[in-house]
Amino acid sequence: MSDQGFVLKKNAQGSSLFKSKQPLLSHLDIELTERCNNACMHCYINLPERDTNAQGRELGTDQWKAILTQAADLGALSVRFTGGEPLLRDDFAELYLYTRRLGMKVVLFTNARLMTPELADLFARFPPLMEIEVSVYGMHADSYDAIAYAPGAFAEFRRGLNLLLERQIPFGLKSVLLPPNQHERDEYESWIRTLPGNMKPSYSLLLDFRTRRDNPAKNRIIERLRLKPEDSLALLTRHEADYCRAMTQFSEKFLYPQGDELFNCGAGHNGCVDAYGQYQMCMLLRHPDMVYDLSNGTLKEALTETFPNFRQKKASNPAYLQRCARCFLKGLCEQCPAKSWAEYGTLDTPVEYLCQIAHLQGRYLGLIEEGEMAWEVNDWQKRIQTFVHKMEMQASTEISQADLSGVKP
Ligand code: SF4
Ligand code: SF4
Repeated sequence: MSDQGFVLKKNAQGSSLFKSKQPLLSHLDIELTERCNNACMHCYINLPERDTNAQGRELGTDQWKAILTQAADLGALSVRFTGGEPLLRDDFAELYLYTRRLGMKVVLFTNARLMTPELADLFARFPPLMEIEVSVYGMHADSYDAIAYAPGAFAEFRRGLNLLLERQIPFGLKSVLLPPNQHERDEYESWIRTLPGNMKPSYSLLLDFRTRRDNPAKNRIIERLRLKPEDSLALLTRHEADYCRAMTQFSEKFLYPQGDELFNCGAGHNGCVDAYGQYQMCMLLRHPDMVYDLSNGTLKEALTETFPNFRQKKASNPAYLQRCARCFLKGLCEQCPAKSWAEYGTLDTPVEYLCQIAHLQGRYLGLIEEGEMAWEVNDWQKRIQTFVHKMEMQASTEISQADLSGVKP
């Protein structure tokens, strides 16, 4: 073994990564803290920056290093640091460098307010090798600070972003449309086009309830802030041709009734360690019966013994069995155990808001009729074939017209 620069080079012989083709873990999400220096009106997790109770329960530097080492030993190639605001941790730079020294790439989710020249220099010298993802809450101080409930936050966000721009550190942006910033959408999309990296505007469309079910008053605010299902559909389909093209391929593969299995998703294959060392099957699923306490075990035990058991769990709620289990739109619906837990405190209650959006999409694509419910449709295979055929005919007509006019499609 030799230590050259910041990466520890090891003999690959005997490394778990090379023993099997498929590593046990490919990526790990790490929620370093639930605390945040923003207090955004729509957030599903944030606790106050100075919440000493939460801070006192957070894992320490050495505990995080032990978990990161386990992840690397299991073959993980990347780690995502998220929160809350992960840069609130005094040891962030140390944990970042430790992760990179283990050879893992890093994704960082941040609001960029706490970006410093030193930290930006660190990213320039030892690149994360994956884009930093920065949240944008407004184009001006009045909109941004109103959403973040944090005076001065916008100025700090822009300063942080400039530090990344000056050093040409790749980043992506994600926004959310809320009453204080909805009128800025065109301005936001124009601004993005001026930034390096050929970014496309991206929005968090479906606001989640508090995933710890810890704040019913905040849930009521989140519910009021949600876009109307019709507006969500308009945003989803704003680039109609792209949307229909994507749905053509998607529908053939993923639209079918999925039965009573709760986990048809990736939950439990990689997972997320929360700020206190609870290993969750995914970032959002915090049902206390579905997490693994790392103070009593290892990532490997969770991945090989506990999570596979959790994944066997079946739905038993009659409403779920009557609707979601028989619904061929399940693949495009955001209904899942994590969302059901946050909304209703169970793993298998259909989420009405998400159901409405899925049905609007189904109608938009011509897969279901007005007033029809997707779980009542028996000839869903025929409908999907008809839809795919129609889209393919449309695409070939467009190609022929482009050929005739001498324009390359
Ligand atoms: S959020 Fe839902 S769909 Fe996504 S991984 Fe978690 S349980 Fe599965
Ligand atoms: S569209 Fe409705 S019935 Fe279908 S999976 Fe989603 S929530 Fe369940």
